[in-house]
Amino acid sequence: MKFIIWLILGYIAYRVIKGFLANRESAANPLKGTEAFQDPVCGVYVSLEDATVGRLEGERIYFCSHDCLQKYQEKLQNK
Ligand SMILES: [Zn+2]
Repeated sequence: MKFIIWLILGYIAYRVIKGFLANRESAANPLKGTEAFQDPVCGVYVSLEDATVGRLEGERIYFCSHDCLQKYQEKLQNK
């Protein structure tokens, strides 16, 4: 009988540790699960809600701020 109790305790401990690790993982990456885009100017990841969208050469490009959008446009013009 004791063996079964240890088995259950071991299973509970396993679930607790697994849940703890999963929580830590999602805390380390707040953008996980949402759509994220990389700003090509500064390399920062932005979510769709926070992004500044630029339509350049028929492409949709996402930036962290209007400053980065302007820098990108200047780069294109200097090509
Ligand atoms: Zn940026």
